[in-house]
Amino acid sequence: MDFAPSDRVSELRERIRAFTSEHVMPVEQEAVRALDEEVRPGVPYPELIVGLRERAKAEGLWNLFLPDEEHGAGLTNWEYGMLCEDMGRSPVAPMVFNCSAPDTGNMEILAEYGTPEMKQRWLEPLLNYHVRSCFSMTEPDTAGSDPTGLAARADLDTRSDTGGGEWVINGRKWFTSGYNGAELAIVMAVTDPDAAPHKRASMICVPVGTPGFTGVRPVSVMGHDGGPGHWEVTYEDVRVPEDHLLGPRGEGFSIAQARLGPGRIHHCMRAIGSAERAFEMMCERAHAREAFGGKLAEKQFVQDFIAKSRIEIDGARLMVLHAAWKMDTEGKRAARQEISMIKVVAAQMHQDVCDRAMQVHGALGMSDDTPLALMWRQGRWLRIADGPDEVHKMVIALRELNRFKPREPVEA
Ligand SMILES: Cc1cc2nc3c(=O)[nH]c(=O)nc-3n(C[C@H](O)[C@H](O)[C@H](O)COP(=O)(O)OP(=O)(O)OC[C@H]3O[C@@H](n4cnc5c(N)ncnc54)[C@H](O)[C@@H]3O)c2cc1C
Repeated sequence: MDFAPSDRVSELRERIRAFTSEHVMPVEQEAVRALDEEVRPGVPYPELIVGLRERAKAEGLWNLFLPDEEHGAGLTNWEYGMLCEDMGRSPVAPMVFNCSAPDTGNMEILAEYGTPEMKQRWLEPLLNYHVRSCFSMTEPDTAGSDPTGLAARADLDTRSDTGGGEWVINGRKWFTSGYNGAELAIVMAVTDPDAAPHKRASMICVPVGTPGFTGVRPVSVMGHDGGPGHWEVTYEDVRVPEDHLLGPRGEGFSIAQARLGPGRIHHCMRAIGSAERAFEMMCERAHAREAFGGKLAEKQFVQDFIAKSRIEIDGARLMVLHAAWKMDTEGKRAARQEISMIKVVAAQMHQDVCDRAMQVHGALGMSDDTPLALMWRQGRWLRIADGPDEVHKMVIALRELNRFKPREPVEA
């Protein structure tokens, strides 16, 4: 494994870092407020963020996540991972570079499984304009960590008087992140209840605004319910044409898994960028603040925070880059174990580093005068979203145990 990035990746990294520090970080608190105040149906991004997006697009810092040359930058997971670290330095930057979840995952599956009509109607606008989408899988009444138990139904009505068949969707979802202001929801619902557990559900495209598809409330998450939000939504006899099925029928589970593989690398590398920023702030504060006759930097408790954080960030980075490299060289399936491992390690590391940085900042660290509290909050979600820690640990352990399973004695 060669750790030296190519000239192209080094150049992109430098430009992303400079763009983020010059244009995004100075206005990030304002951008977060503008998201809360301006986003509403028909307004996916506030003006401030649209301006930054235009600028990023004009500079070619746009859609870098898609590995195919046709729609994206043709970067490998390893190369794009390096860029994610720099984008992760600001919670607002991924939106600016059109690389934020859940749009990236939705664009990936539209590019891979979408029909030409779907690509024209949804993928092209998501790639080129200021449009957002959401992904609707998790339900309040069933365990999201085990989506084989989903309850939402989509039944095919082939007698529809519109001429073609229609899916009729019924169910309740929540944590449909970004519903407010989105144009499209990709919903996962049971289409084949009698099939094997992993073959029961499918993905279906539902335009926001379709009759019966209703936003119930933005779920308040750690005291925050503004902006694109994490919405509870209901589907009540929602009808969409049969051709809105995304990918093969009954393959919802495997499409969801395919969607999450690269997404987890992106989230983890952004977590590393965010932790690196928190680390820098912690060191600067330790040099600047004095207590009990000396700088905080001279106190061994604080040095312990700094040493532990350095070790943990660098360890997590190596693991994530290794997982990305394995994904590039051996495929998503071969890298499943490594991807589960980094999801646990990077999320915990990010939370610990941000927590220590907040501690060194004292009351300032709890305030919103620094981005630390926002960064911590986003990191906390990562231990649950895209698979809770415990589920990843369970599958890691089962794969390892399988390797050591006692074999039945072979009969002579
Ligand atoms: C900020 C945020 C954004 C999100 N955005 C989206 C989105 O856009 N679209 C979407 O569909 N979903 C989204 N989610 C939902 C997320 O995918 C689910 O929360 C996650 O899959 C877990 O499902 P659950 O919340 O139903 O928890 P449950 O499945 O009820 O699990 C609860 C807890 O049980 C424990 N547990 C579960 N299984 C095991 C096990 N085998 N062994 C030991 N312990 C176990 C874990 O501690 C787990 O946290 C988001 C979540 C968050 C926090």
